[in-house]
Order: sequence, then structure tokens, then C-alpha cells
Amino acid sequence: MAAKILDGKSLAAEVRGSLKSAVASLADRGARPGLAAILVGEDPASRIYVRNKARACEEAGVRSEIHELPQGAPERSLLERIAALNADRAVHGILVQLPLPRQIDAQRVLAAVSPAKDVDGFHAQNLGALLQGSPGFVPGTPAGVMRLLDHAGVRVAGARAVILGRSTIVGKPLALLLLQNDATVTICHSRTRELASLAREADILVAATGRPKLVTANMVKPGACVVDIGIHRAPDGRIVGDVDFGPVSEVAGSITPVPGGVGPMTIAMLIANTVRAAELSNAQPAA
Ligand code: NDP
Repeated sequence: MAAKILDGKSLAAEVRGSLKSAVASLADRGARPGLAAILVGEDPASRIYVRNKARACEEAGVRSEIHELPQGAPERSLLERIAALNADRAVHGILVQLPLPRQIDAQRVLAAVSPAKDVDGFHAQNLGALLQGSPGFVPGTPAGVMRLLDHAGVRVAGARAVILGRSTIVGKPLALLLLQNDATVTICHSRTRELASLAREADILVAATGRPKLVTANMVKPGACVVDIGIHRAPDGRIVGDVDFGPVSEVAGSITPVPGGVGPMTIAMLIANTVRAAELSNAQPAA
């Protein structure tokens, strides 16, 4: 039987719609939420991501600005731009689009973003808060996955969750969120042995490897929920994920499509974080 499709596109539209009253009430007080995205270099995928985020912001009533720096920009220029945005009261959220060119140390850059404006949730302070179970800003992709699972009624407590990928922006924070919701979590990576048999144990299988169609039908337990984080452009121009969607959807109980699954949820959660940052900043007395 074909799997139930977890429709991130429509849920993301719902999430963005639910933010409108908060945005309107902030705007009434002269505090329209604002997101600044910094794009360094010419990476075509990064350009598309930043443009999509800016468009989704505008649709939700959130002001957006894009700051572009050339491919060869020194780290110092980026740090200066971040310092200026940290001080700008009209900017409530700052995102630095990754990956950054080689000459720039991403850790130093992410550490320079004010934790109060770190709506991507990549600053060590926000990641540390997540580890402690008292989150500040949670990264959008893991937060979006949890929202999708909740909306679809996927039982997380007690479930065996297997995550393929251990990045700091997806795999690890998602593992923490699943753990906090009482799943039993296994994180796999490129050195994991017997990946397929571990994957087959999963009630919830998450693929975040950056390897197109890595997850095949024989790696999926019948009835499992399969979450595909990957985004790749196939040689024929189509967008595909880390999961071999057709055959896997014959085995899984539910599955996120690519496109239209986790991607739109990531952006919706980013906007939700920006609105929350604006609310928190508006609740502070002026400096
Ligand atoms: P990274 O490259 O940072 O991490 C990939 C992880 O996958 C690593 O931990 C790596 O292991 C592991 N891995 C690679 N190959 C294998 C393999 N053959 N078997 C098991 N594990 C493997 O990627 P990201 O986490 O940043 O992104 C993952 C994917 O998700 C990409 O396709 C990216 O484009 C997409 N993405 C999508 C988003 C969305 O909104 N939908 C948001 C962010 C990312 P090791 O650590 O050993 O190298």
C-alpha cells in the first residue's frame, strides 16, 4: 500500500498563516519583524534558498533584506556586517547562508551573531540551551520535522528513531528533539557499519546525508515513517531527496516528499523564530 504523504507545503502555509496576527500586532506597535539574510558568493543553490526565504517572509508580513558579499570577501567584512546588523533595531533575525567560502571560518561567523537574533539557532548558546532541554531558538529543519510528525499524529514517545547524518544543523539537533520527546534515538554517519540493518529497525527513519537516493526500499521497515531532509538537483533537472521515493513509499507507512516536505517547513520555522525574536525584543525596555 502506498504511504501517506506528509505534506510540508500545506502545513508550512498554515504555520505562516498562524503568524499573521502576531506580525500584525507587532506592526501596530511599530515593530514589524525584520530578517536580514547574508549571502556570500555565487553558489546558485544558496541564492535560490535565500530568495525563497525572503519571499516567504514577505508573504508572512515579515520585512526581509538580503546582504550580498562577493565570493572573495574577507572574513572581517562579514564580521563587520554582522556587527552592524546586531546593532540594527529594525533587524530581529540574522541568518548567514551556509556554506561559506573557504577563507571564512563558519564557526567564528556563527558565534558573532547575537544569540537574541540567531533565528537559525546555530549559535553555541542556542545549541547549548537545546542540549539542556530549555531551548532558545531551535534550528528550523529539526523544528520543522517535529512539527510535521506532530501534525501527522506520528507517535514519537517510545518509537525507535534512526537518523542518518550527524551534522550540527540537522542530525544532532533533531536527535535531541526526538530524545526530549521520548524516542529511542540512533545517529548514523559515514563510518556506521551495517547501516541498512540499523535503518530497518526504525519506526521513524530520517535521512540527512546529502546522498541522493541513499535510502532504498530494503532499508525501510514496513509501515515506518520516513523523513527525507536531502535536497539535490538530479541530472534531469528534477529535485530529489536522500530517499528513493517511489519504491520506499510502497513500504513506508508515511513519507515526506521532496520537494514539498521538510524544505517548506524549515522556512516556516525560520519565520516563526524571527517573529518570536521580534516579540522578545519588543518586550525589552529600549536600551
Ligand atoms: P552534512 O554534509 O553537513 O552532513 C551529512 C551527514 O551525512 C554527515 O554526518 C555524514 O557523515 C553523513 N553521511 C554522508 N554519507 C553517508 C552515508 N553514505 N551513510 C551514512 N551517513 C552518511 O549535510 P547537512 O546535514 O547540512 O545536510 C544534509 C542534506 O540535507 C543535504 O542534502 C542538504 O542539502 C539537505 N538540507 C536540507 C534542508 C531542508 O530545509 N530540507 C536544510 C538543511 C540541509 P560524516 O559525519 O561521517 O561525514
